[in-house]
Amino acid sequence: MSDKSTQLIHHGYKPPAGFDSVQPGIHKASTIIFPSVAALRQRDWKHKTGYTYGLHGTPTTFTLEERICTLEGGQYCTLVPSGLASVVLVDMALLKAGDQVLIPDNAYGPNKAFAQNELTAWGVSFAYYDAMSPSDLAAKLTARTRLVWLEAPGSITLEFPDLPALVAVVKAHGDAHPQGIVTALDNTWGAGIAFNAFDLGADISVQALTKYPSGGADVLMGSVVTRDEALHQLLHFCHMRVGYGVSGNDAELVLRGLNSIALRYAAQDATTRALAGWLQQQPQIEAVLHPALAGSPGHAAWQRDCTGAACLMSAVFKPGYSQVTLDALCDNLKLFNIGYSWAGPISLCVPYDVPAIRTTGWPYKGGLVRFSVGLEALSDLQADLAQALSLMQYS
Ligand SMILES: *Cc1c(COP(=O)(O)O)cnc(C)c1O
Repeated sequence: MSDKSTQLIHHGYKPPAGFDSVQPGIHKASTIIFPSVAALRQRDWKHKTGYTYGLHGTPTTFTLEERICTLEGGQYCTLVPSGLASVVLVDMALLKAGDQVLIPDNAYGPNKAFAQNELTAWGVSFAYYDAMSPSDLAAKLTARTRLVWLEAPGSITLEFPDLPALVAVVKAHGDAHPQGIVTALDNTWGAGIAFNAFDLGADISVQALTKYPSGGADVLMGSVVTRDEALHQLLHFCHMRVGYGVSGNDAELVLRGLNSIALRYAAQDATTRALAGWLQQQPQIEAVLHPALAGSPGHAAWQRDCTGAACLMSAVFKPGYSQVTLDALCDNLKLFNIGYSWAGPISLCVPYDVPAIRTTGWPYKGGLVRFSVGLEALSDLQADLAQALSLMQYS
């Protein structure tokens, strides 16, 4: 070892003894060194009893998986590089040619797009169902249905479904199916805080950790959690084959975010509810969609099943306000920025054309703007909305 480069590379490192820091350290690896060939041959790749290769986990990602299980009330967790990847992993692990997947019509758009494109190309069929109608779900189930997606509330339009009723419909049908039918919930909105996905009957809970668990608007990650070991193995082995690893640095950011998730969820909930109630009374508004508002679709189910609500609200404007006017409203807002994602520190808004993205009924004629409420003060956000609303032109 006379060469300096060789000496640097082989310089011994052990974490400092007695260094009990509050936050776990960041461990990063592609390669993990085995002490001998015998150890390499004996290492169990399939179960998380040791470390084999960075793609399959590090002390940092294993710690995060355990904490996400704690958050969700689940037993097993697999981390993936984005929230969307968690949806895709479930589809890839559970569906094969000839199977059918059912997706709520008001689901997160890219879930539907993956079904329309890749799943269809791979011989998997899909259908949309009205999440507010268990009988519509019952009518869409077939002998080939293998997976039913759930989402609470719907993306953008925020209808809160009766999850136990939907799960009961699936289980009644699935019991007659030799392989059973798996229910997977996109639990990004509840975040493991507003309700327990498994207690309401979901077999799998996925989350965009990008949203609340990170809370910083600066990291992309997803999780897939189950209570069922056999189901977890299907997901975990597929995960090993598709190369969906996450970085130690990103895992550490989410570990940091988890420390404050409950406080942030509650604070953003309070601000959002106050703004939603105020917005409802403004003359430009036809309806505010937010599950905690009486009259918002699914309010009764939300009230029965949830202890809180996320930071999203959608405003439906009176039909006299054109799309151009709604775009201008978003442009005129100063604290609400224009951008995707939500549950970060900064408030956001995006206008959506709802009839273009769904097939089941939509009762409104006017346009919709979805707001994500950040951590700013209520009074500042309300003043910002008020000034931008006052500039709106009625045509
Ligand atoms: C944001 C989001 C996702 C996807 O998360 P990414 O990390 O952006 O891929 C999935 N589902 C819901 C409901 C979301 O809001």
